[in-house]
Amino acid sequence: QDRLINPLEAAADAPDANIRPALLSEYIGQPVVREQMEVFIGAARGRDEALDHTLIFGPPGLGKTTLANIIAREMGGNLRSTSGPVLERAGDLAAMLTNLEAGDVLFIDEIHRLSPVIEEILYPAMEDFQLDIMIGEGPAARSIKLDLPPFTLVAATTRAGLLTSPLRDRFGIVQRLEFYNIADLTTIVKRAAGLMRVTMSEDGAIEIARRARGTPRIANRLLRRVRDYAEVKGDGCVNGVIAASALDMLAVDRRGLDHLDRRYIEILRDRFDGGPAGVEAVAAAMAEDRGTLEDVIEPYLIQQGYVLRTARGRVLTQMAIDQI
Ligand code: ADP
Repeated sequence: QDRLINPLEAAADAPDANIRPALLSEYIGQPVVREQMEVFIGAARGRDEALDHTLIFGPPGLGKTTLANIIAREMGGNLRSTSGPVLERAGDLAAMLTNLEAGDVLFIDEIHRLSPVIEEILYPAMEDFQLDIMIGEGPAARSIKLDLPPFTLVAATTRAGLLTSPLRDRFGIVQRLEFYNIADLTTIVKRAAGLMRVTMSEDGAIEIARRARGTPRIANRLLRRVRDYAEVKGDGCVNGVIAASALDMLAVDRRGLDHLDRRYIEILRDRFDGGPAGVEAVAAAMAEDRGTLEDVIEPYLIQQGYVLRTARGRVLTQMAIDQI
């Protein structure tokens, strides 16, 4: 079933390009990340050097790609984007690396899905700006070495735990994105509404923010659906009442939980007696894969205090039992 508040990117999010912040000063929330990046970017620029390689981790939709774009923009370089699963052959990465200019940013999304062969090529590229690959096969095979311009690798992952330690150790900067609080999400919704020319009251923005599951991508998506509702059922203005009835219609509840979240909690409660239950068992009962549970569903439920991750498995908290 399609999940309205699925934080994963969807084609329907394409208009997001217009509302994605382009500068660090437009990046709302994440005060620690912002302050640190301001310092690191300012220092690198002052020395006229490429920024250190940067690893960004956090659940989907929290602003990793946005931050990579901002880094390239603030450093005055081009952004070249690819992702772990797309980089299949050594030649794919070699082509990207040799096309870089000094100060460019190479963005690799889902870096935890990089193949070991590609990872091996990345090490000398990151460390010494050297490309070292084998071309040809058998007796005719030979290795070629090329100098690369100083560049910055910005990598994003939802699963920092899946990175090999040699790879992780090669990042000078590691940033972890947190779920956004309601105040920051309200600012994000208001900013997006302004850019989309939606008239909105303060309580309309807060209502959307409250139900956005701590995630800017979801906030922007809900805003678009609420705007539709306001245009058809009201006079186009998004106020608290319109936002609440639109979101009720969309089955996004007041805690920002959707049907998948509620199902996770119900299964843990009813089939596993509140836990502890292994993640594989819960995934099987939900007919979802374990990765989706760990990347998309659990981080928010854990952060909100509904679920605990213990050595013996997942456990429902008293708060979840009382509220759901
Ligand atoms: P990720 O790469 O982590 O999945 P994105 O960077 O694609 O997430 O962010 C999703 C959308 O959320 C962006 O298009 C942007 O509009 C919005 N967004 C993310 N972070 C912020 C932020 N800090 N301030 C304002 N908008 C944000």
